[in-house]
Amino acid sequence: MTIQALKGFKDILPDEARLWQHIEATARDILHRFGFTEIRVPILEKTELFARSIGEATDIVEKEMYSFTDRNGDSISMRPEGTAPVLRAFIEHGLQTRLPVQRLYTLGPMFRHERPQKGRLRQFHQLSIEVLGLDHPRLDAELIAMAWLILEELGLSTSLQINSLGCQACRPAYKAALVDFLSSRQDLICEDCQRRSQSNPLRVLDCKSSHCQEQYETAPAILDHLCPDCAGHFSQTKTSLELLAVPYAVNPFMVRGLDYYTRTTFELITDALGAQSAVGAGGRYDGLVAQLGGAKNMPGIGFALGLERLVLLLGQQNADACPETTTDLFVAALGEEATVKAFPLVHLLRRQGLRVAMDLEGKSLKSQMKQADRACARFVLILGAEELARGEAVLRDMTSKEQQTLPLAGEPEAVCARLIETITTKEP
Ligand SMILES: [Zn+2]
Ligand SMILES: [Zn+2]
Repeated sequence: MTIQALKGFKDILPDEARLWQHIEATARDILHRFGFTEIRVPILEKTELFARSIGEATDIVEKEMYSFTDRNGDSISMRPEGTAPVLRAFIEHGLQTRLPVQRLYTLGPMFRHERPQKGRLRQFHQLSIEVLGLDHPRLDAELIAMAWLILEELGLSTSLQINSLGCQACRPAYKAALVDFLSSRQDLICEDCQRRSQSNPLRVLDCKSSHCQEQYETAPAILDHLCPDCAGHFSQTKTSLELLAVPYAVNPFMVRGLDYYTRTTFELITDALGAQSAVGAGGRYDGLVAQLGGAKNMPGIGFALGLERLVLLLGQQNADACPETTTDLFVAALGEEATVKAFPLVHLLRRQGLRVAMDLEGKSLKSQMKQADRACARFVLILGAEELARGEAVLRDMTSKEQQTLPLAGEPEAVCARLIETITTKEP
């Protein structure tokens, strides 16, 4: 019996890893343009961290976390999201004293025990982005515009929905209105919603049952209950998005799966993966730092992009695109003598920064040309017995199919330099 990976855990094979690297590099580049720096946090944290931040009565904490007692008897959990660990680190290391506004991102695996499906795994990957120390609505717009830009530069089209969830001052009244509404409809909504209308009423609004959704069409909307401060904040967020030409739609029933959100929330949605799904989402969490024992007035906002979904979308769009060239040069040395000559040359070329492949056994030309194709080599340098006897090699341009001979005379360093010069003048 062979051993297979756990259900919901997936290997990322080399062809797909190229897509991942492309997405990660594009995102990092844009993050750095916006002044973000990377922070890396552990995968395991005290369970309490997530219970206190995400909320006891959320699906994530109630049903989905990988929590266990370790050998010391402590309850620990594998991180189900990135914000809580980053904020824990922010508080623990007093980062706010170094810079009044911190722009941080982290990238890595998160874990939730959900039913695996397309684009949803138990180990999934997020790019998680946080800004701490500023509550100005222009920041909300800047952050949303950055998320938009990442997707745009990846060539992905999504739609943006925004909402405001209010604050400590105005949400209780809305909650009360919603609870009133829900209690008049207890027999028309699902069991989960019935239970949640007590424990966490806002969350009923993202129930996946269409029966429930039908009922909620007439539910009171948070936007009608915002206090003047929250209404002003939301209005300025919208104006700022317009200044940056980021198109949005307001969805007053978009709550998010996490308890800590306040004011602006947003989702980037695609319908290219079957059912409508979010590739990125986030929002403001002004009370969260205080809730975790940090500074009392430390506003924050963040979002996460789901990398699996981006990979699926990107893979769909370039389904038949040839993988980009990964090898600058394939050195095809035929036979033992040529291979011995080529071996140190290849090492030199690699030291010079070229991506070079060779067959270490000196197999037949046919076999090596096949390998060169598979490696998507831009050039092939052929070193056969005849060429070697004449003191030269044949360089083949795999795009134009043109060939030319190159002298092999002189020190390996000189041969290497000639080769690099020839290749670079030919490259577009
Ligand atoms: Zn408010
Ligand atoms: Zn429901």
